[in-house]
Amino acid sequence: MEFLPIFMNIRNRPCLVVGGGEVAARKAALLLRAGARVHVVAPEAGASFQDWLAEGRITHRAGEFQDHDVDGFTLVIACTDDNDVNRRAHAAATARDIPVNVVDTPSLCTFIMPSIVDRSPVVAAVSTGGASPVLARLIRSRLETLIPSAYGRLARLAADFREQVKARFKNPADRRIFWEKVLQGPIAEMVFASQDRAAHKAVQAALGDPNATERHVGEVYLVGGGPGDPDLLTFRALRLMQQADVIVHDRLVSQEVLDLARRDAERIYVGKERDRHTLPQEDINHLLIRLAREGKRVCRLKGGDPFIFGRGGEEIDTLAEEGIPFQVVPGVTAASGVASYSGIPLTHRDYSQAVVFVTGHLKDGTCNLNWPGLVQPNQTLVFYMGLLGMDVICRELIAHGMPSATPVALVQKGTTKDQRIFTGTLETMPEIIKQSKIKPPTLIIVGEVVRLHEKLNWFEPADAAVN
Ligand code: SAH
Repeated sequence: MEFLPIFMNIRNRPCLVVGGGEVAARKAALLLRAGARVHVVAPEAGASFQDWLAEGRITHRAGEFQDHDVDGFTLVIACTDDNDVNRRAHAAATARDIPVNVVDTPSLCTFIMPSIVDRSPVVAAVSTGGASPVLARLIRSRLETLIPSAYGRLARLAADFREQVKARFKNPADRRIFWEKVLQGPIAEMVFASQDRAAHKAVQAALGDPNATERHVGEVYLVGGGPGDPDLLTFRALRLMQQADVIVHDRLVSQEVLDLARRDAERIYVGKERDRHTLPQEDINHLLIRLAREGKRVCRLKGGDPFIFGRGGEEIDTLAEEGIPFQVVPGVTAASGVASYSGIPLTHRDYSQAVVFVTGHLKDGTCNLNWPGLVQPNQTLVFYMGLLGMDVICRELIAHGMPSATPVALVQKGTTKDQRIFTGTLETMPEIIKQSKIKPPTLIIVGEVVRLHEKLNWFEPADAAVN
């Protein structure tokens, strides 16, 4: 190892920053976060320092750096753009055995500053020994996705119960099993889902449970898998997909998204095509309960967002009744993903001040939508499941007073390599659709904002050239 990784307690310790620019301010901010008393030496302290100075959180000596400035400090960070000053700060500090860091100059550092993921009290630090700060930052951003932002709260929960757990389990092996269950099972998930009170109760209950180190309770994650592009998954979705024992998915979830689930997880397809549910909703609800009762971590993976035309409410309704722990992870809904990837802003200062998500799945071909409510000026309409009802939709909108020249876009398989966009008007669209070969799923956007597509379209599906 080039450097020994250690974490240093600098709370209330005097730390010196040489330099008053932006970089210096970032270092000062970090020192302040760790509770240091920060002193700055520089001819001038830049704008970023002013609030701290006014609040008395740091002190400043205006002037050129002098060797004796380092006297009495616990550590020194030099970040001026004058190499000579940096070198002198390094020399002065090392002569007094004070740890010193000269920004971006490994040869003048007795310690280096790692890239950090801060989930205090959990902190992960990454260093490349000064070889490549950019690489360290890339690794850090990977860690950011792996370490839930609530890890700090999880650590605090563990701290709260540490003594009690020690007293309850004399045997260290039992203690380890207990903590492993708490820190990666449903209790941890409660913390990640901001259910801290429930988590506290659950730890308390687990402590009183004679089989605390044996029983394993299942749980369900209702996860939004987004519209297709796997990059649009949330960190939480990805993490839960990778820890679940079973993935219950339907047709809308793209293969690329499914590929990111834990490799050895059992996969159950529950279909769902229009009017032809492979598994009736009720069976899906019961399947989830049965799997969770078997002690499994079940990821119910749905396209888009589970709470937008996803029947997510029904699935968790049954779970709640049965007392199965669950959480819901939002996803990028088709309207949002498709609009972005088609360069069609759903709202726009000049064209639209409201957006309405509507189901175009017309029951028995009847049009029981609130058409007058949909036909409003400066409003964008997004129809989910509207392809079959396209004729009716266009006809009724016109009949209720929407100009027949209103622009319409139909987007097939948005955000994927098969994305295709068809544009027309309420008048022309039904015919355009009839003439085209269209692959579901498709989304229909109606409103003036559709005009912006021509200018703002940026996404090039991989197969564009072939289409
Ligand atoms: N919960 C989902 C919607 C489920 S309803 C969500 O939030 O996105 C299914 C409808 O979503 C489809 O009929 C289609 O209208 C729309 N849809 C889903 N993914 C889509 C995609 N990649 N491109 C276009 N439309 C999509």
